[in-house]
Order: sequence, then C-alpha cells, then structure tokens
Amino acid sequence: MTDFTSKKALVIGGSRGIGAAIVRRFAADGAQVTFTYSGSHDAAQALAAETGATAVRSDAADRQQVVDVVAAQGPLDILVVNAGVAIIGDPLTFDADEVDRMIDINVRAPYHASVEAARRMPDGGRIIVIGSVNADAVPFAGAAAYALTKSALQGLGRGLARDFGDRGITVNIIQPGPIDTDMNPAEGGIADIVKPFLAIKRYGRADEIAGLAAYLAGPEASYVTGAFHTIDGGFGA
Ligand code: NDP
Repeated sequence: MTDFTSKKALVIGGSRGIGAAIVRRFAADGAQVTFTYSGSHDAAQALAAETGATAVRSDAADRQQVVDVVAAQGPLDILVVNAGVAIIGDPLTFDADEVDRMIDINVRAPYHASVEAARRMPDGGRIIVIGSVNADAVPFAGAAAYALTKSALQGLGRGLARDFGDRGITVNIIQPGPIDTDMNPAEGGIADIVKPFLAIKRYGRADEIAGLAAYLAGPEASYVTGAFHTIDGGFGA
C-alpha cells in the first residue's frame, strides 16, 4: 500500500493485463487515475466502473494522439507507459508495416509521452515505462524485432533520467519476464518455450508488476532513476 492521495496518474495502455493491474493498484492507493486504451472498449469501461478511473480512447501508434492525451491531463505526478504489442515469429514472414507499427507503439509512444509529460510535471514526478527482460536476453528465436523495441527503452531511461534529474523527476524502466496476460498466457502460446528458463516455476502475475510500479512511483524511490528493474522469476538469471 502506497499513499497516492492527491496524486494524478496517467497509464498509457491500461485496459487489460499489466496496465489494468497498475490502474487497479494506483486507484486503490488513492491516486486520481486516467488510462488510455485503443481496441478494448468494453474492458476499459468495465475497469473504469470498477476503479473510478477515467478511460480515454487514444491510439498509442499515433504520435499526435499520444501527445494530445498527455497534454490534456495537465500536470501529472505519475506517468506510466505500458501499451505494447509483441510480434514473435519468423522475421522472414513478418508484415513490415506491422513491425513498424510495433516500433511506433513500443518505442515512439514512450518517448513522446514521457517528454510531453515532463513539460508540465511538478518536481519529484515519476515516469515509468514497461520494457521487457528481452531487452537483456533473447534466449529463443523469433523475438528480434520485439527485443529491439524493448532495448531501445534502456537508452530512453538512461537519457531522460539525466534530462529531468535536476527536477527530481525519476525515469525508470520495469522489465518483466513472463507474466500471465492476453499477450503471454501461462498456458499455450510461447509458455512451453519460456517456462524452462524460470527459476520460480510459474508465470508472474500482473499485480506483481503493479507492486513494483507502486514502489517506483512512491516516495521511497526518490533516489532511483535511470535504472532497469527486472522482475522475471529468474528468467534471465
Ligand atoms: P496485453 O496484450 O495483455 O495488454 C496490452 C495493453 O496495451 C492493453 O491494455 C492494450 O489496450 C494496450 N495497447 C496495445 N496497443 C495499444 C495502442 N495502439 N494504443 C493504446 N493502447 C494499446 O499485454 P501485457 O499486459 O502482457 O503487456 C503490457 C506491457 O508489458 C507491454 O509493453 C509488454 O510488451 C510488456 N511485457 C509483457 C510481458 C508478458 O509476459 N506479459 C513480459 C514483458 C513485457 P487495447 O486492448 O485497448 O488496445
């Protein structure tokens, strides 16, 4: 439990999975939360009704929509950029436009959202981006394009931490391992490939990522910045 009373938070990509868990956690801890979604209208409305958060449709693949939705919030205490997609498989068969769209969502949106938020963020604000353990390790084939997007976030985190550090604004990257969501179900999908790499022999839960996000957004993490926080059940150990 972190006291986020009077804190204003925006979660980019909050309708499902890890983003929804972060919305739930921040709202339960007292924050005034807005989250964006793109395709999952019903899930977004249900989450808004459940938590009291505000849902706004905004496509993270569209730079102007990203900038506009962040600017519309005014001064934000906390920005979380969670929206992401994963194209996993044989790169020789990928649709190049889909790969570019993934780069738009996974790389360009976090950059533009973070910079736009920093324009108005008060001193001591928090920027958190959801990366992946695949930024550091790619122990199976088919993840090159996805991994490149998550590795890029490490440069973003290092650089923006320097840009905004004199204002006490921290910039951190959370790097989950396998987390049970629509993107990466604990059964089926790529689960059989990744499970042997886990030290803790289960998939992680979205609320476990939300707990780390709450710590990084809270007052105890005021000296933590420009860092990558792996939470992966030992996947990369
Ligand atoms: P899900 O597919 O379960 O959820 C993705 C979320 O991102 C949804 O709320 C979705 O909203 C939103 N989103 C996707 N595209 C867009 C878009 N164009 N505009 C706005 N929102 C968008 O994924 P996870 O919860 O598993 O993943 C969340 C993040 O965590 C991603 O960045 C992912 O790369 C990362 N991650 C996940 C891991 C895992 O094992 N699950 C491991 C490592 C990292 P909507 O449906 O409304 O479009």
